[in-house]
Amino acid sequence: MISVVVPIYNEEELICQFHEAVANALDSAGGEWEVVYVNDGSVDSSLELLNGLQAADSRVTVVELSRNWGHMGAISAGLETARGRAVILMDGDFQDPPEVLPQLIDAWREGAEVVVAVRRSRQERSKVLAKLFPLFYRVLGALSDYPIPLNAGIFSLMDRKALDSVNAMGEKNRYLPGLRAWVGYQNAIVYYDRHDRLAGDGKLSFISRIKYAMDAITSFSYKPLRLSFALFCFSTCMAALLALSMLIVKSPLTMVGLGVSAAVFFIGGLVLLSVGVLGEYIGRVYDEVRGRPLSIISKVHRSSALMASQTSGYQDEKRHRAA
Ligand code: UDP
Ligand code: MG
Repeated sequence: MISVVVPIYNEEELICQFHEAVANALDSAGGEWEVVYVNDGSVDSSLELLNGLQAADSRVTVVELSRNWGHMGAISAGLETARGRAVILMDGDFQDPPEVLPQLIDAWREGAEVVVAVRRSRQERSKVLAKLFPLFYRVLGALSDYPIPLNAGIFSLMDRKALDSVNAMGEKNRYLPGLRAWVGYQNAIVYYDRHDRLAGDGKLSFISRIKYAMDAITSFSYKPLRLSFALFCFSTCMAALLALSMLIVKSPLTMVGLGVSAAVFFIGGLVLLSVGVLGEYIGRVYDEVRGRPLSIISKVHRSSALMASQTSGYQDEKRHRAA
C-alpha cells in the first residue's frame, strides 16, 4: 500500500478538488493506497470537509491535531500515522502537483527507496519570497556539511525503511528535506514545475519561514560555529601587521596609535579564539543531544547457510532455556 500524507491548515476552498485529483492520480498509478490528511488546528470548515471525505471513502484517514502546531508538526504526525510500504508527502494546495504522483511511484517500483521531487521552475505570488528562496538554497548549499538536494521541499516519496529511519530521529527542530537526504538509501530525483497555490493565501508566516531556514542551516552545518576561528585568524593577522608596521614608522604618536590598535586586535583575537573553542564543544553537545545514529544499516548480505545455522543455534538456545 502507498500512503499519501497531506498537512491541512484552513484549506476549505481546495480540499474536495485536491482529494479528487490525488485519488485520480493514485488510481492511475494502480495498487492499494490511503491518504492521511492531518488537520493542523484549522479554524475554517476544513475538518468537517475532511471528515466528510473520510466517511465517504475508507481509504481516507483524518488525523486531528490538538491545535495549530505548524507545517513540520503536522507532517511528523502524518508520517507516524501512515501505514504504507511507501509514503508520499505533499502540500494540499496544488503546489505539489498530484499528476506527478505516478512518476514518484514508478521510480519507487523501479527500486528507489527515496524519491525526491525537485523543482525545475517555481512560481510565487510574493516577489520577496521569489527572491529569497534561491538565496536560501545558495546559502544552504554553501554551508551544509552533508549534500542536500537543493530546490526540493517536502514533496517526496520514502520507502518504509527510509521513513522508519526519519521517524526514529528524535530531533525537534526538523528540516525534513535535510533528514531525508541524511538517512541515505537509494535516491532518485523527479523534476516538476511548481506553480502558485490554486486558491487562498500562503499559510506560513514570514517568521516561521525564517525559523525553518535557520533549522535547515543549524541542523546540517557546523560552519557558523566555526566562524569565530576565521575571525580569530583575521584579528591575529591584523595585530601582527600593525605591530610590524610600528617598526617602520618614525613618529612616536603614530607608533602609539599602531600599538594600541595592535593590542585591541590581539585581545579581540584571544576572545574570538575562546568563543571558537566553546563553539566546538557546543557543536558536540548538540550532536549528543540530538542523538542521531552513527550509521544506518540498509541491508546485511549474508550467505543463507550462515543464516540457517544462526537460526538453528538461536532455536537450540531457546529450547535449552525452556528446558
Ligand atoms: N500548513 C499546515 N500548518 C500550518 C501552515 C500550513 O499544515 O501551520 C499546511 C497548508 O495547509 C499546506 C501546506 O502546509 O497544505 C503548505 O503550506 P503553505 O502552502 O502555506 O506553504 P508554502 O507553500 O507557502 O510554503
Ligand atoms: Mg503552498
